Amino acid sequence: MAIRTRQQTLAAPITCTGIGVHSGKTATLTLKPAPENHGIRFFRTDLPGTQGIPALFSRVVDTSLATVIGENGVIVSTIEHLMATFAGMGIDNARVELDNYEMPIMDGSAAVFAKEINAVGILIQTAPRSHFVVTHPIEIADGDKFVGAYPDDSFRITCTIEFPNALIGRQSISIDLGDNQFIGEIAPARTFGFLHEVAFMKQLGLGRGGSLETAVVVDGDTIVNQEGLRFADEFVRHKLLDCIGDFSLIGMPIRGHIKTVKSGHLFNHRFITEFFKNRSSWETMTPE
Ligand SMILES: [Zn+2]
Repeated sequence: MAIRTRQQTLAAPITCTGIGVHSGKTATLTLKPAPENHGIRFFRTDLPGTQGIPALFSRVVDTSLATVIGENGVIVSTIEHLMATFAGMGIDNARVELDNYEMPIMDGSAAVFAKEINAVGILIQTAPRSHFVVTHPIEIADGDKFVGAYPDDSFRITCTIEFPNALIGRQSISIDLGDNQFIGEIAPARTFGFLHEVAFMKQLGLGRGGSLETAVVVDGDTIVNQEGLRFADEFVRHKLLDCIGDFSLIGMPIRGHIKTVKSGHLFNHRFITEFFKNRSSWETMTPE
């Protein structure tokens, strides 16, 4: 698939309101077009006068429950699904305004963000878009967790998950982010967890409402949500969504193939740290 060579932004502002999955707090999110070379930046409108936080790996301050970025004591939490949307739709520049510290979780997927951006359209800018090109394979493994990056002409991500659960088992999916598959195939996949996991239920904000509206809940070999799954392999699709979000923090689209097995935010971030250090495995490339 052809690699997009020009930077892009959304064509008009959009607004969404929802609840933070960890905080239970209502937040209003506004995405605005931004000029060339601006990148993705998060602004806290409830803290006037504070600077925007660039959505870059170097600004990640926590990944234990969600991806949190921060600068000078100002944080924005749970950015992964919106970041995946930008990367999945090829948006390089956007001003993200949020009136709280945690992003709204919406329905646990990126469907609303993708649909809203798709509705206003994408503006192609004139500045060239730089790519992060994988030049030599690099892999890390820890027990059965694995992440690798390999040279490839497209931007491909392949994810594999495995759970000791009859409903999930082992699932794999691979997509080329240049193929415009994100909106239909990946964005609607919701986050998931198991009913027996107390931490997960806390994460859902039980008591603050909205558990089955913000995630797929699995109880043994049953889906608790009445409407069932959106895809038979919705679990691995959501994992891919999270991976796209994690790798977007590199700050530019990748030209290469990322493979993950049983990875999560923490292990993906460990990989990115190694990747940056390993200067012989990548280079940045800017078209004419
Ligand atoms: Zn997620």
